[in-house]
Amino acid sequence: MSYKEALQHTIFKIISKSAKELQLDTYVIGGFVRDYILKRGTHKDIDIVAIGSGIKLAKQVSKNLPNNPKVQVFKTYGTAMLKFEDLEIEFVGARKESYSEDSRNPIVENGSLEDDQNRRDFTINALAFSLSENDFGELLDPFNGVSDLNNKIIRTPLNPDITYSDDPLRMLRAIRFATQLGFKIEEGSLNAITKNNERISIITKERIVTELNKILESDQPSVGFILLEKTGLLKHLLPELTALKGIDEVEGQRHKDNFYHTLEVVDNISKHTDNLWLRWAALLHDIGKAPTKKFSKKVGWTFHGHEFEGSKMVYHLFKRLKMPLNDKMKFVQKMVFMSSRPIVLAQDDITDSAVRRLVFDAGDFVDDLMTLCEADITTKNSKRFKKYHNNFKIVRKKIIEVEERDHVRNFQPPVSGEEIMKTFNLKPSREIGIIKEAIKEAILEGDIPNEFDAAYKLMIEKGEKLGLKKHEKR
Ligand code: ATP
Repeated sequence: MSYKEALQHTIFKIISKSAKELQLDTYVIGGFVRDYILKRGTHKDIDIVAIGSGIKLAKQVSKNLPNNPKVQVFKTYGTAMLKFEDLEIEFVGARKESYSEDSRNPIVENGSLEDDQNRRDFTINALAFSLSENDFGELLDPFNGVSDLNNKIIRTPLNPDITYSDDPLRMLRAIRFATQLGFKIEEGSLNAITKNNERISIITKERIVTELNKILESDQPSVGFILLEKTGLLKHLLPELTALKGIDEVEGQRHKDNFYHTLEVVDNISKHTDNLWLRWAALLHDIGKAPTKKFSKKVGWTFHGHEFEGSKMVYHLFKRLKMPLNDKMKFVQKMVFMSSRPIVLAQDDITDSAVRRLVFDAGDFVDDLMTLCEADITTKNSKRFKKYHNNFKIVRKKIIEVEERDHVRNFQPPVSGEEIMKTFNLKPSREIGIIKEAIKEAILEGDIPNEFDAAYKLMIEKGEKLGLKKHEKR
């Protein structure tokens, strides 16, 4: 079957021409072909396989392109890459791969197109369009990948047990594609992943995180996390999450399964935000519940201080997975730490001062925090569900009102420490901190407005109470 219409972009004509000049058979393979047939929009990364040297072909293509774009050569991998318009085109010579036990880096030899398709991870990723002049646009589908695309199935071209053991990253890729595309992983594959799950330990943290991020960025991340859990991979990657699994019962009192609750929260939030770090926060918002869980006859199950514990765990988790220990991590920590604040607030009458404190503490992230807390409402009791959402609507409205009036979002004290020192002729000392704190508290409580005159007056009162004398100018 011919897919000429998929290859209308000038780049394909130029690759075809260049391949002819070098007398190489050449193909587009992988994601571009898969996503074209799935009508998933244009894939901007284009993988080209040449039966021969991919590097030579890349150089020839560059010669034939206007402006002769730079060819980046990766000698160790025998690949080359160039950019044209908004496309990134990667060239590789067809290869045959064989693996050893303890590494995912195979022994590589030159090979045929068939050899190259054999080394691909999934039948749907082994599809190729020919770029040779005589059969331009012809589909090469040795493993019935199109039929798997139609039936929404992830399947390996060769024996799954060997495929996953050879390169355990494929286990995560299988789950990631299943999540992104809404596909089922074929049973043989699922069993092989389960059997080989421990081999994930030979994969670098960076690659693991790339896949976890892609799962989190999909429409319904829970699909991926449930698969990770079922295949036993999750306990190797995020044991903090598997520790949330299960429901305990003591004297007839049960708590909810915080693992499945978490996944519901992640799916909920994914309908409202594409912010990856907010999605991470949703995934981790309850991890402190496992180590803080207690049962007492009086109050039943409690998770006291789980938000603080959880925010500390975020740091260790990010460090272990070699994730950035920067403002992104701090954001996730802050969301986890504050994740119960709005719900507590919304259960009672919502006072201005409580809202002011929330805005003060959350700063610019108050909207993200509200989005997280709304996603956290997973109660199946429709009355309570409605009540919490309504309360949060009121909180959101009050946030805007309070912010317009009091500007506490990025709070700058209306009277500075310097002003206090000058007024009372003080050197840096404890008293300055006490006065500043009293002013901040009075503003947050709503006792005084967030304005200089009122704050100045309070400073004088507080200073006098502390036995300080207003410094008279001589
Ligand atoms: P996406 O861009 O959505 O991640 P993709 O299929 O283009 O999808 P890449 O990681 O760019 O993903 O890989 C390109 C192609 O290389 C794949 O389609 C697949 O044929 C092959 N491939 C990538 N990683 C592996 C692997 N670990 N084992 C075998 N084949 C792989």
